[in-house]
Amino acid sequence: MPFDADRYSRQVRFAPIGEAGQERLAAAHVALVGCGALGGVVAMALVRAGIGRIRIIDRDVPELSNLPRQVLFDEADVAAGLPKAVAAASHLQRINAACRIEPIVADLIPSSVPRLLGGVDVIVDGTDNFEARFLINEFACREGIPWVHGGAIGAEGRVLSVLPGRSACLRCLVPDPPAPGALPTCDTAGVIGPVALVVGAVEAAEVMKIVVGTEAAVGNRLLVCDLWDSLWRSVDLSPLAAAGCPTCRGNDFPWLEGRTGTQATVLCGRDAVQVASGPGLAGIDLAAFAERMAAVGRVVANRWIVRVTVGEGIELAVFADGRTIVSGTRDEARARGLVARYVGA
Ligand SMILES: [Zn+2]
Repeated sequence: MPFDADRYSRQVRFAPIGEAGQERLAAAHVALVGCGALGGVVAMALVRAGIGRIRIIDRDVPELSNLPRQVLFDEADVAAGLPKAVAAASHLQRINAACRIEPIVADLIPSSVPRLLGGVDVIVDGTDNFEARFLINEFACREGIPWVHGGAIGAEGRVLSVLPGRSACLRCLVPDPPAPGALPTCDTAGVIGPVALVVGAVEAAEVMKIVVGTEAAVGNRLLVCDLWDSLWRSVDLSPLAAAGCPTCRGNDFPWLEGRTGTQATVLCGRDAVQVASGPGLAGIDLAAFAERMAAVGRVVANRWIVRVTVGEGIELAVFADGRTIVSGTRDEARARGLVARYVGA
């Protein structure tokens, strides 16, 4: 038996898992992209459930404003300033010494996707932006790897499991990626901790179902909840799945092949990085963006550019064509992260 029978006895007694299911969990290899609010819950639940291997990919470091919802981190982690993936691995290893935890401090970009997401049984979305999600969706569809999408903003959450070729994929649901700045983000509209706990928990359950082989219970339903309005809905996506889309039924992978998405460039001689939208993304509505950012920091706006100070010596200058210059850093991954958080992508 490749697992500790006593430790997992309650899970094994749950009939849909049983001994065979627990063995599958112990043999499974999961890639988790992002270990913040959602990813932290997913990682904790899967490591406690006895997942065999988990690769944790994150580009960020913990901040004090993360602590209301990011369960893997504490004040000491913020003070230590270690990358989230590394700090998370250390906490998770203390929960379960038998689990192989692989922290990877990296940004998910088209060239890094095969190395970061290849060779696993399931991919889980713990990210906060559409660019990463479309990259995951295309890679998962191309390679036939099941993946679980989760999102949370305000008090709303959503979860979608994708079984490539058999269920609707993210592009079936969202045919056109939102333009930069078109949607609120957690950093502009806020988010409450409990919704991250709910969404992360549902994502973890979906991964367990996929690994255990209860696939009839997975896919083709989008779970949507609003904890403030006490609404829970499950939407049937079978009609979308029957039609398919160019990614899951064809072989169209614009994000993976770099035909759309953003590109980061360190600006020569300046403590700044430019994050530019790719050709597939539209420009930004500057007036609406300036209005949203008023809640975040000091905003200076005209018809060509909106400048906003977001703290820690960082200023974002957003241009009408969708470009953003992030001043106060030369770290491309950090700049892309800040743009995803405040402008959205
Ligand atoms: Zn599709």
